[in-house]
Amino acid sequence: MTVFAKIIDREIPADIVYEDDLCLAFRDIAPKAPTHVLVIPKKPIASLIDLTDEDEAIVGRCVLVASRVAAGLGLGSGYRLVVNCGPDGGQEVPHLHFHLLGGRSLGWPPG
Ligand code: AMP
Repeated sequence: MTVFAKIIDREIPADIVYEDDLCLAFRDIAPKAPTHVLVIPKKPIASLIDLTDEDEAIVGRCVLVASRVAAGLGLGSGYRLVVNCGPDGGQEVPHLHFHLLGGRSLGWPPG
């Protein structure tokens, strides 16, 4: 069971900013920007590599939730939505998650 599954089940605490039937959004414990929220599906999908056709609505909801959370948190001047995938992508937690980063000017390209 991943740390994110435990957050969904309320086995460990998190600063939850949004929840619905498909998705959960909570603040990253080690923020890389002034605003750093993780949007995750409740379904335990390990990574982008593991997506199937039946996950289309879930992924769509996560992106829509990220957009709405960004607006709600006042990120009107812009933000970044990032998915790390696999070892080369820097993914550490094997539960699909969208990093919503904002509150400062973000460099490009990423490292
Ligand atoms: P990634 O490297 O893309 O897998 O990102 C995993 C993210 O999860 C990192 O930014 C961590 O800081 C974050 N994280 C790990 N454990 C927790 C936790 N208990 N609560 C909130 N965020 C967490």
